[in-house]
Amino acid sequence: MNNVSEQLSARIDTKREELISLTQDLIRIPTLNPPGDFYDDCAHYLGDRLAKRHFEVSYFRAEGTPGDSDRYPRVNVVARHQANPGPCVHFNSHIDVVTVGANWTKDPFAAELVGDRIFGRGACDMKGGLAASVIAVEAYLELFPDHPGAIEISGTADEETGGYGGVAYLAEKGIMAKPRIDHVIIPEPLDKDRVCLGHRGVWWAEIETKGRIAHGSMPFDGDSAIHHMTAVLNKLEQELYPLLATKRTQMPVVPDGAKQSTLNINSLHGGESESFEGLPAPLVADSCRMIIDRRFLMEEALSTVKSEVIELLESLKLHRKDFDYNLRDLFEVIPSMTDESAPVVQCVSSAIEEVLNKPATMVVSPGTYDQKHIDRIGKLSDCIAYGPGILTLAHQPDEYVEVQDMLDSAKVMAIALHSLLHNLLNK
Ligand SMILES: [Zn+2]
Repeated sequence: MNNVSEQLSARIDTKREELISLTQDLIRIPTLNPPGDFYDDCAHYLGDRLAKRHFEVSYFRAEGTPGDSDRYPRVNVVARHQANPGPCVHFNSHIDVVTVGANWTKDPFAAELVGDRIFGRGACDMKGGLAASVIAVEAYLELFPDHPGAIEISGTADEETGGYGGVAYLAEKGIMAKPRIDHVIIPEPLDKDRVCLGHRGVWWAEIETKGRIAHGSMPFDGDSAIHHMTAVLNKLEQELYPLLATKRTQMPVVPDGAKQSTLNINSLHGGESESFEGLPAPLVADSCRMIIDRRFLMEEALSTVKSEVIELLESLKLHRKDFDYNLRDLFEVIPSMTDESAPVVQCVSSAIEEVLNKPATMVVSPGTYDQKHIDRIGKLSDCIAYGPGILTLAHQPDEYVEVQDMLDSAKVMAIALHSLLHNLLNK
């Protein structure tokens, strides 16, 4: 470790207790999304803390975005510390957490510290990462108050529901975008020795098959949409799934099963809904709807992904008597992957090597996160996810984050921050 890295690491080690209490305070604000509760409280908690440390703090309510209302305002906070001209390094964390769910043995909002672990909803995803980045930046500023460039920390809404009232909104306003910002680290829980370069693509669509309603005692008088959907399912089984299994990516996606194209059937609804007695009306189904969740690779075009499904449906229309369908696009995300030679990747990887004494692993997320908006709307490609916490604990009961992981990743973030602000790669 060089001198600066040693100084930063030592300073961060003195902040262990502060890091624990900051993480606990954040978890104790139950920013559940949906509905998007307590965003204002959480944003102001963060803003007030950083204002005391000479940050210029701004709040942005994403009015008119999904879910925004006076009861549940989509409030975002952006704090900036500019000492001199130079590049801007931005740490972005989402402040929302997913619903609690069943099977907890701990109080999900008590933020109990047991041994080295802090338990709670959002501990891992991603209030632990937010706290680690705040401590990293504060330690950095204590040692280098007159740094070149600008350091920003944001707390944003709605990542768990698509990010429209959060990062997407800020990117559209030019705040989370080039040229205001040069480098972005998103402290999502990807494990402290891994750099996440991006994510696969997403296409959600609804397939509806059509039928003709009739009395259930005389099905021959109608035409069942559910039977027609069975034909779609058979096509998926026999043709599409085998095809997807042959599509492998060069992207370093984890876990291994996600290195190929995948398709999940999110839901399937056919016929009448069950009545209060649990008995649906005796009818031949005139509609059956299925929502598919197709995850695709850098090597695939979205148009091809869609046409595979369309061709399958068209062939049924051609060959199956009375088959008719509707296809409706619901949601799409283009795959995103930052180049391994990009400055933020290089600086964070070399900091990981310094702090953990082992080379960083490059990964790509099987899912998606706010990087998509920074990349596509903000036109900013020097962006990664890097943060403490074990990915597989996210959204689980008894979610926790380890204090040592937060300390280690805070050191990595502080050292990488120094390299990025000083353009050390180019020297
Ligand atoms: Zn997250």
